[in-house]
Amino acid sequence: MVIKICIACGVIVVIIKNKNKMKIIFLDIDGVLNHQLWFKSQKDKRVDTDLKYNRSMIDETRVELLNDLIKCTGAKVVISSSWRKNYTVKELQTILEDKGFKGEIIGLTPVLRFTGLKDYIYSVPRGNEIKAWLETNKGILNNKMSKVPYVILDDDSDMLLWQRENFFWVDPYCGLTPNIIYKAKRFLGVQK
Ligand SMILES: [Mg+2]
Repeated sequence: MVIKICIACGVIVVIIKNKNKMKIIFLDIDGVLNHQLWFKSQKDKRVDTDLKYNRSMIDETRVELLNDLIKCTGAKVVISSSWRKNYTVKELQTILEDKGFKGEIIGLTPVLRFTGLKDYIYSVPRGNEIKAWLETNKGILNNKMSKVPYVILDDDSDMLLWQRENFFWVDPYCGLTPNIIYKAKRFLGVQK
């Protein structure tokens, strides 16, 4: 809380600042919660790893790391993975919970397409889709887009230049690591 007094008129102004800003994790799934090492380890278990968006294709050990980030920061999850094209928020919540997820998914980034030339549709960088979600959810975030504390966990890198500090690139060979979680925690203001 900040109290300001106007010397000229003696008016006391009390400004209440909400320090509990909602923190957001924009989460990719392929290459983050599953990865090449995991796929290799599953080959003997007869999991059909060729099937895209197969709900069993999630490494529980990487979900545990994600849980640690959520527990320490209180961040909510927005799915930016292409899995959002096949599942609803509720379905994704269940899929991840089946793998031990303890957080809350509050949304999906929009799927944007840009038609610039006649009969040609461009895909839009993921960073723009994240920007669009932040812009359209200012209300629930109770914050300007530029002030929202958020991190992006993704093995692709088509983010916007001004998102570079929020973006934590994940190596799809091994997925999420404790090192990335440590850095993301610090970025979201947790010093442990
Ligand atoms: Mg990916």
